[in-house]
Amino acid sequence: MKNKDLHDIYLSSFGIREEAIERVSTAEAGLKDRFQALEDIRSYNQLKVLHAFQDNRLSQADFFSATGYGYGDSGRDKTEAIFRDVFRAQACIVRPSIASGTHALSTVLFALLSKGDRMLAVTGQPYDTLQEVIGVKGEEVGTLLEKGIDYSAIPLLEGGAIDYEALDLALKDPVHLVELQRSTGYTDRRAFTIDELGQAISFIKDRQPEAIVMVDNCYGEFTETREPLEVGADIMAGSLIKNPGGGIAVSGGYIAGREDLVTRCMNHLTAPGLGKDTGLTFGTTRTTLQGLFLAPHVTIEALKGALLFCKVYEEMGYTCYPAMDDPRSDIIQAIALEDPDRLIAFVRAIQKAASVGAEVVPYPWSMPGYSDQVIMASGGFIDGSSIEVSADGPLRPPYIAYYQGGLVYEQAKLALLFSLESLVKES
Ligand SMILES: *Cc1c(COP(=O)(O)O)cnc(C)c1O
Repeated sequence: MKNKDLHDIYLSSFGIREEAIERVSTAEAGLKDRFQALEDIRSYNQLKVLHAFQDNRLSQADFFSATGYGYGDSGRDKTEAIFRDVFRAQACIVRPSIASGTHALSTVLFALLSKGDRMLAVTGQPYDTLQEVIGVKGEEVGTLLEKGIDYSAIPLLEGGAIDYEALDLALKDPVHLVELQRSTGYTDRRAFTIDELGQAISFIKDRQPEAIVMVDNCYGEFTETREPLEVGADIMAGSLIKNPGGGIAVSGGYIAGREDLVTRCMNHLTAPGLGKDTGLTFGTTRTTLQGLFLAPHVTIEALKGALLFCKVYEEMGYTCYPAMDDPRSDIIQAIALEDPDRLIAFVRAIQKAASVGAEVVPYPWSMPGYSDQVIMASGGFIDGSSIEVSADGPLRPPYIAYYQGGLVYEQAKLALLFSLESLVKES
């Protein structure tokens, strides 16, 4: 096929002009080595996942769907064993009944914290929805604060590093649970790498070996060859409609870590005495596992897309988190657009590249769990899935667009091209 054919379909089917194509193609050519490094991560993780499938002897018969209590659901049990092995955990819960990443993380917090326990967030305030779980934002009932948990957070230093001096001080008194967030979330810092998380965890364990270290692993899975449990975290949780669901899982979340802690979480999720042995998968075993199987591949497609956005937007003078030369440990590309109209135009352009609902025009709205208005492009096979091409941003300065996802690189590239066209119209 000639290059010309590709240019023709961009122009005739999507209305994208030569100038944008040239800009993106040039950026792409400069990313060869970076893409190769990502593909090496992909290969390693793909083999790691495949090996876990084989080790646990997955068979067609495991895809049956249990009813009632769900006793003896071998597919559910093998799914949890496979995730456990992939994440190098002692135990793992993977359930479609976990409604979201927030629900998975909230389950950990409610299961492990009791009245009077001290919880310390080390990477600044946790993700927006978790602030509502804790009770520092919003006015929901049944929060951790209402239950008498003693909570505090250590703000990150300028530039996004952990404040070790403040952490040292905070660790003079006993802490029951320490929370670290790997990913950017809705902030203006890059993700913490596995090495950086490991350093922080050693620092914490040196001072308080009994403290439970929990990592919010949302968006981080399969972006590196190791996961947080491998550098000393005790427990971590995430969403199946992000990286580890590979765009195939229809719902759910996971909790992985130390056996005693995961047992507590499971007893909280079902009931003491029931634990892991009950709970249906409602026929989702095959899709959940197929999603995990594709996850290392899909995550790297998304990361390549994120890098391409970063290169092009940096070259146009925008501040990006992470920046081109930063290490990466999540799939998010944050771009400071510095203007509300530009943010809205950007998000609408991303929606135009959607696989489902490309004709939808996003508007800012007050989303449950988030305190600022948010505008969101989300047009995937799974509603709200952000491993698929998506973008969102709270309507607050510096009007950062958080771009993420892309089951296939071509779609991320198309989204980028649309965004460039929209900027031309904006200015
Ligand atoms: C997505 C995310 C969550 C959980 O969000 P849900 O939408 O409930 O899945 C928590 N923390 C971080 C860092 C996230 O990116």
